[in-house]
Amino acid sequence: MTSNDFWLTNFVMPSGDRTAMHVAAGHIAGYGTPPAGADTTDAMGRLLIPSLIEGHVHLDKVLWGTPWPGYTSGTTVKERIAREKAIRGALSVPVETRGALLVEAEIAFGTGHLRTHVDIDPDWGLGNLEAVLRLRERYAERIDIEIVAFPQSGILASPGTADLLDAALREGADLIGGLDPAYIDGDPKGSLDIVFALAEQHGRGVDIHLHEGGPLGLFELDLIAERTRALSLSGKVTVSHAYCLGDATPDALASSAETLARAGVSILTSAPEQSMPPLRPLWAAGVTVFCGNDNIRDTWSPFGTGDLLERANIAARQQNLVSDEELHAALNLITGATAEVMSLQGYGLSPGDRADFLLVDAPAVPETIASPPRNRVVYKAGKLVAGTL
Ligand SMILES: [Zn+2]
Repeated sequence: MTSNDFWLTNFVMPSGDRTAMHVAAGHIAGYGTPPAGADTTDAMGRLLIPSLIEGHVHLDKVLWGTPWPGYTSGTTVKERIAREKAIRGALSVPVETRGALLVEAEIAFGTGHLRTHVDIDPDWGLGNLEAVLRLRERYAERIDIEIVAFPQSGILASPGTADLLDAALREGADLIGGLDPAYIDGDPKGSLDIVFALAEQHGRGVDIHLHEGGPLGLFELDLIAERTRALSLSGKVTVSHAYCLGDATPDALASSAETLARAGVSILTSAPEQSMPPLRPLWAAGVTVFCGNDNIRDTWSPFGTGDLLERANIAARQQNLVSDEELHAALNLITGATAEVMSLQGYGLSPGDRADFLLVDAPAVPETIASPPRNRVVYKAGKLVAGTL
């Protein structure tokens, strides 16, 4: 319906300005008034926001397309790891088929980039990675996929995994992951040393799942910050979840936030009901916080749709973000902050940026978070990839 060179007219920018945008060769060429005879597309008054960015998801875990597995609450992480192995091991629907359903959902909701963790261990080998690499190639024109090699069964606790992580980084994974270095691996320093050695060896970023709470979790954050500084990885290291920040006393939180900000370690949250890292003190300390959907209808969680606006809505509710400024900040958790963490080039709505954006039925940004609009019209590199005007 649109050519490679067209003007999008009659929309509202996040700032509230009404304007027209010139899209050419997949980029935003500029704003202004379309010249006579230009190819135009009427956005019919919708709000335009930059492409959403999924900070944390698991494309290999999703169980869409398979029977409902049933859930029990109150199980430990180790029990859930074992349960996942049993359920996924018995599935006849391959990762690529299940993952594609989630990729399609993310695209339809307006996600233009996503970071997925992919389970790597001696049982799975590199099979999950290979399936997700095929998905990345298949959807390359509609979404950018970044892959974290994730040791879901631990590293020291699962002999052979370190070599597989090394192989995963050579075969297409972008970042090295980690998991609860004390609880799962029983040796925080030893486990983190392997993760950071792989990061250094391959020149990659790090994204570690850290569920461990209390003083132990805060101690591990210090270890991560220390290694980040030592290897000059500022801006390239993320701690996912960090429930220990949500449980910390105000003094301990302030101290930890300062350490994270100084080291350039970002925090990913899926906005859980309990132990969510508190946004305001982290923002005040200068820590980059971003948001992701994490587990969606897999063996870990029955919940989720793949909609990042819904995730930002949950985060805003948990943290009581209600002013216009705070709701803009909530959108930033799934746009600008994540783009910064992923070092995305040409992301945004400035002339010269890639034409990755979506149009929604909302009068202003705060409403997109307060009541996420259903209708999304999604563009990637200037091409319509989901929805209809
Ligand atoms: Zn996760």
